[in-house]
Amino acid sequence: MSSYFETKIEFLKGVGPQKASLLNKELNIFTFGDLLQYFPFRYEDRTKIYSISQLNASMPYVQIKGRIRHFELTGYRNKQRLVAYFYDQSGEIELTWFQGVRWVLNKIKKGKEYLVFGKPSVFASKVYIPHPEMEEFQNSMEETLHLQPIYSSTERLKSKYLDSRGISRLQKELLINALPNIREILPKDIIEQYKLISKPEAYRQIHFPDNQSSLSKAQFRLKFEELFFVQLRLLKLKLTRFNKFRGQIFKNTKLLNAFYHQHLPFSLTGAQKKVIREIFTDMKSGHQMNRLLQGDVGSGKTIVAFISMLLAIDNRAQTALMAPTEILSEQHFRSLKKYADPLQLRIRLLTGSTKKSVKKEIQSQLESNEIDIIVGTHALIESNVKFKNLGLAIVDEQHRFGVAQRAKLWKKNQDILPHVLVMTATPIPRTLALTLYGDLDVSVIDELPAGRKPIRTLIRFDNNRNRMFGFIREQIRTGRQVYVVYPLIEESEKLDLKHLMDGYESLSRAFPEFQLSIVHGKMKSADKEFEMKRFIKKETQVLVSTTVIEVGVDVPNATVMVIENAERFGLAQLHQLRGRVGRGADQSYCILMCHDKLSNEAKLRLETMVRTNNGFEIADMDLHLRGPGDLMGTQQSGLLDLLIADLGKDGEILHVARAAARELLEEDPDLKYEKNKNIRTHIKSLHKNIINWSRIS
Ligand code: ADP
Ligand code: MG
Repeated sequence: MSSYFETKIEFLKGVGPQKASLLNKELNIFTFGDLLQYFPFRYEDRTKIYSISQLNASMPYVQIKGRIRHFELTGYRNKQRLVAYFYDQSGEIELTWFQGVRWVLNKIKKGKEYLVFGKPSVFASKVYIPHPEMEEFQNSMEETLHLQPIYSSTERLKSKYLDSRGISRLQKELLINALPNIREILPKDIIEQYKLISKPEAYRQIHFPDNQSSLSKAQFRLKFEELFFVQLRLLKLKLTRFNKFRGQIFKNTKLLNAFYHQHLPFSLTGAQKKVIREIFTDMKSGHQMNRLLQGDVGSGKTIVAFISMLLAIDNRAQTALMAPTEILSEQHFRSLKKYADPLQLRIRLLTGSTKKSVKKEIQSQLESNEIDIIVGTHALIESNVKFKNLGLAIVDEQHRFGVAQRAKLWKKNQDILPHVLVMTATPIPRTLALTLYGDLDVSVIDELPAGRKPIRTLIRFDNNRNRMFGFIREQIRTGRQVYVVYPLIEESEKLDLKHLMDGYESLSRAFPEFQLSIVHGKMKSADKEFEMKRFIKKETQVLVSTTVIEVGVDVPNATVMVIENAERFGLAQLHQLRGRVGRGADQSYCILMCHDKLSNEAKLRLETMVRTNNGFEIADMDLHLRGPGDLMGTQQSGLLDLLIADLGKDGEILHVARAAARELLEEDPDLKYEKNKNIRTHIKSLHKNIINWSRIS
């Protein structure tokens, strides 16, 4: 964009200092360019006028034209309801207001012709329109029926007349001078190949669409360009890193062979073997490995991590595994130690609660290469943790580490960067993976260890509670164990605890013959540990808990996961919880206990859980329902701050854009060609705002 777009917003006609400051604060709009890129979040179809007889409650917002026959006011004071009987040639419909009744009565007149805009709804099997928008009809309106852009606004902006319409007025003003200043960045061949409309036209149509088809073209053009640059940057980064960063070459495999032939506790699945081959190829290539290892819960990532570590250790390098929580670090430590001990490997755990003296000892041992495997939390990236030779850094990601945090681990080896393996337990939808990890190579464990029976998932309501108890009893009598999980809601920890305690009480009463453990976030970690251990040692048969067990325990004998208030959990979390069972050879069950009044979205989530055990399918649905921001939940990265594209919905455009970026780099890897000059400049301007990506996975 040219410098015209850096003009301060207060200089736009109709804005001024006061409104400008509001636009800054409320919408982050500082410049002409910001406003131009403040896109409508939906469009209302005002191109068509329906007749009343056509309406039904399944229709979205519609427009009708007619007159009010009479008003009827019922109820008292704050329970007042106003009904207007509205008719056209085809029939009559009720328009209803529950608020602002006085205002409507003052403003809207019987007998006049109105254009009414609203969402048909149904009550007592009669279609009506609640809180419609009304505008007096004028003949000139027929010609200007259009798709009306809707911009999101805030209360404070609305009080200064900057509601959706107000913003639209500003866009109109802006476009007059802006259009000639909009420059094309994409080269001609890409524009032709992907049949893109021109950039100025796209901006005009996105704010003032002529019709649905030109709107779609505008959306495609702008989304394509946005995703193209995200992908180009990632692919370029990948290319640069590949060319620039050497990796230690690991050749010795003695230790590895010893483990493989003498100590491997089970035979690996085909998928595990495949990803180990991919990892080894990287670790022998002379280039730094940057690989994402995706595998559903229970797919067996730990052993893959360990075997990869062996290759490094065999070659006198050290290895680190970083996990987001203490519980998870401890669990990794325990599982890895089981594999490491018979080989006499030196493995230690370093977390926030490691004693100072022990910490010191570990630090000095790391510096003198007396530790082969270090497992830990963020404590690993503190500046006083130094390695003699870190050869492989593994991050168990769980969406919780920021990009910058991960980078700190890489930098622990200055002269030659460690190989990097990022593991994710929650499958990431492909579109999201391509954006968040688009610069990494990807390995997928797409197969569960043999003999696992798919978990059976059932939805049950409160009135099935006794049968559910009966089922639990039956399972425990055959020697199995059971989890019962309660939701944790931040707004009211007290209430949650009460819920949990009530549940615990009623379970204790229902099962006097069994032992119960209870674990929740408010307990001291020693107590938590104690209770968990009782469950692991089979001293207790039921573990009642909040979601702390989500990432915590691995008890193959537990075959039933009961999730209370399942409608309050997100899909990803439900799937994670379900993954706690189905780890042994016995048939496992996941029982989703829920309220009998469910929102459509909650229903869809629960039904998805019943329909599939496939984490990728679930992740896709989750992305679709919640959108990428929520899904990641954290400070993940600026990569997700997209202005117009939506990773939940624009998967296809993303793939096209990535392909275009790849083709471009294949032809012109350094962006040296004259036709790509604008792209080069644009990428540089993007880079200014971003930390040194080339060092970051
Ligand atoms: P995740 O991918 O969720 O981290 P884990 O590595 O914890 O999975 O493995 C889940 C369980 O499956 C563990 O108890 C592990 O010992 C077991 N396991 C892993 N790979 C295999 C295999 N190839 N055959 C049998 N059991 C396996
Ligand atoms: Mg794991």
